[in-house]
Amino acid sequence: MTFPSPEGATPAMAQWFALKAEHPDALLFFRMGDFYELFFNDAEAAASALDISLTARGTHGGEPIPMCGVPVHAAQAYLARLIRRGFRVSVAEQTEAPRKGRAAAKAPLRRAVVRLITPGTLTEDELLEAGRQNLLACIVCPTGRQGGDPGLAWIDISTGLFETASVPAHDMHDLLGRLDPAEILCADDVDLGDFADRRTPVLLPASTDAARQRMAEAFGVASLDAFGTFTDAEAMAAAAAIDYIRRSQAGQLPRLSYPRPGNAQDVLGLDPATRASLDLLRSRDGTTEHTLFAAVARTVTAAGSRMLADWIAAPLTDPATIARRQAGWTWLLDKPDLRDGLRASLRAAPDMARALGRLSLGRGQPRDAVAIRLALDVAREIRTILNQREDLPPILALAAGHLDRAHDLQDLLARALAENPPARMDDGGTIAAGYDAELDSHRELRDGSRRVIAALQQEYAEHFGIPNLKIRHHAQLGYVIEVPAAAATRLRGNAELIMRQGTASASRFSTERLVALDQKIAQAAENATLRERHLFTQVVRQILDEPALPDMAAALAGIDIAQSCAVLAGGGTWCCPQVGDDTAFVIHAGRHPVVEAALPRNARFTPNDCDLEPDHRVMLLTGPNMAGKSTFLRQVALAIILAQAGLPVAAQDMRLGVVDRLFSRVGAADDLARGRSTFMVEMTETAAILNQAGPRSLVVVDEIGRGTSTLDGLAIAWAVLETLHSTLRCRAIFATHFHELAELANSMPRLSPHTMSVREWKGQVIFQHEVVPGCARRSWGVHVARLAGVPDAVVRRAGRLLSMLEKERGRQAPPLPLFEQAAPAPDADPVPEPAPTVPPAIMEMLEGLDPDALTPRTALEMLYHLKKLM
Ligand code: ADP
Repeated sequence: MTFPSPEGATPAMAQWFALKAEHPDALLFFRMGDFYELFFNDAEAAASALDISLTARGTHGGEPIPMCGVPVHAAQAYLARLIRRGFRVSVAEQTEAPRKGRAAAKAPLRRAVVRLITPGTLTEDELLEAGRQNLLACIVCPTGRQGGDPGLAWIDISTGLFETASVPAHDMHDLLGRLDPAEILCADDVDLGDFADRRTPVLLPASTDAARQRMAEAFGVASLDAFGTFTDAEAMAAAAAIDYIRRSQAGQLPRLSYPRPGNAQDVLGLDPATRASLDLLRSRDGTTEHTLFAAVARTVTAAGSRMLADWIAAPLTDPATIARRQAGWTWLLDKPDLRDGLRASLRAAPDMARALGRLSLGRGQPRDAVAIRLALDVAREIRTILNQREDLPPILALAAGHLDRAHDLQDLLARALAENPPARMDDGGTIAAGYDAELDSHRELRDGSRRVIAALQQEYAEHFGIPNLKIRHHAQLGYVIEVPAAAATRLRGNAELIMRQGTASASRFSTERLVALDQKIAQAAENATLRERHLFTQVVRQILDEPALPDMAAALAGIDIAQSCAVLAGGGTWCCPQVGDDTAFVIHAGRHPVVEAALPRNARFTPNDCDLEPDHRVMLLTGPNMAGKSTFLRQVALAIILAQAGLPVAAQDMRLGVVDRLFSRVGAADDLARGRSTFMVEMTETAAILNQAGPRSLVVVDEIGRGTSTLDGLAIAWAVLETLHSTLRCRAIFATHFHELAELANSMPRLSPHTMSVREWKGQVIFQHEVVPGCARRSWGVHVARLAGVPDAVVRRAGRLLSMLEKERGRQAPPLPLFEQAAPAPDADPVPEPAPTVPPAIMEMLEGLDPDALTPRTALEMLYHLKKLM
């Protein structure tokens, strides 16, 4: 954006230019009274993004200054819209009280930028999604001779979460996919893949020593060693992120948890393509509906949802830790009353972590302190419920322990905070009566004087003989006597009364007594406000000084997950998988929870087994389109994610030897919008699998080789299958329309061909969605065309053409001796049938066509094309 030169600006505009220069790339919200005003290009951009009117105010360089504004009380909603649209906003507040009289005209009020709002530095509930983390990440890639792995740091300032990791460059995108940061600080030359539009240029500390020192200072420790070992790149990333936050918060740093280094190990590897194909936390349209998260979450708190989302995004690989998580919810399975009790208590729990975040930035309102009080009450309740049990599993025992702290703070908040404090501190009434003698006496004086005034009204009415005389509080005049204009004439000249104001309908007077009382009230009220603010600051300090709160918030979230899982699995259709260190892999009666939930009421989901035990660890899955192949592939991948996240799985039972990396390529050809051809995308993703998968990995792929010619595709699919089976030796499900590949079972001992069962009944084809041993006999593409609503005549014609083509093909020798070990087709029809006459154009088209290789869509396109040729 370009702005005019500040030359010749009025004093107010000169101030605007100076503040704008602090964050030139952010829209400046310039506080003027009850509005935030925007000027010049900022105004034009904001007016169009917010759909508000653009006006002008004064001139600059002879031109009117474009301006728009938003009222301060509604600013959050506008800010949310701007941030969502990708803007950054800096907020300049008035830092002195409005002056009265002549001084007001002399110079503009002092203003300062108090905050830079960017996607990664949000703290307000209105700007945040309750059930999701909001991360600011920073990436530092070491350069020069030392080299080394990139270092990442990520911080959620709304909750104080702070972690770092050192990851090999090729795993960086996996980690970004897991974290899904709202904003990424990094240099321009770092390839961020799908996250490129979240980049913010980074300013690095001058040296790694400076970075370490900066971090140590931020946490008030002499050295970072207490937190663990950070690589130089991690320390740089962490310090740069801290610096950025400090700058965005006008020098203040929110309370952050101590940084935890190395948080990328022991996590199931999931690359971005796998995440995209599985709709874990968000579906492709960006919503949370129809996601794995939505299918399993029965959490009742925002913090519980955030933690659950984190578990799903980063499943574990250590069976012992997985078992610890499982033990929490399985213990609750046969205790429905206990579960319901926890659930009921948790429902009342406010978002403690986010309230703490705001309080630590000095942005806390009374409701944030009340949230802490309420959370402590809930913690006490839950602790009481849990402590009645002697057989708590370790994860719940630990949580109960975390809840059994901060008793003093709880007592303090119970005494200090009023029962129902106002929304804003300035409204008064946050601190409870009886907590502070000084505050009480100011309030008594204020309220006592108000009572005196109320009594005075009666007295004056009688004294002056005007029954409808009122004493009112007036914004400018303070307390005044108000009488109807008609009655006022009787009071004129009365020495007791001082005329303050006369209008057509009423006259206002005061008396010396009233003035004195008014001053007393105003003074007492101001004293009460000051005292109250002071006390609130003290209370906030005590809250922030209590070290147990973050652990307590996490404990509540963990208990919420435990009850959520128990509720889910309590229905009896979800199981607790056995996860070990071996290579077991059996799922009985597994289901796809999201597809199942989306089925119409009268439809039933067909459960399927999946057995990839070591001696048949590669499943080759054939079957027509629409028969349920991709659903099956995805449900197996989802079962692994849930199992390793320590959550219930939608199956009757499951045994799993931990998977180190999961690759899922199902329905991945939707990348055309980004300008890469289907085949290129497919091959890039295949390459990623072949370069990374190992014996502990699990690969589920759908239709490799579909994007190219039949022979090419078959050859590639064959080679990939061979590599998965014999070289990488991983577990895999390989879905394909190349039925020929099933013959490879003869030469690949661990390959087990399976197919989707299809039944023909009275000329109709029924997809049973059942995975059975064997190989598909045919494609049923014509049938799918009918399902898709292709006109009957076309379907019938295609059916005739198909049988003709099949005969034709049967007559010819197979196109290539593909499988050396396969016996020559014994039952090939020896007697050629006379070929029917077909128009040459159609013949030509049909020659290059392999019905088995058709997707429903190309089949459909073919049919339309054929119809045109007829
Ligand atoms: P394919 O990948 O073979 O083309 P899909 O997996 O996309 O088929 O399944 C097509 C539709 O069939 C799904 O949208 C779903 O409605 C239904 N479906 C799939 N699997 C099952 C199942 N196991 N039980 C019931 N319905 C299923």
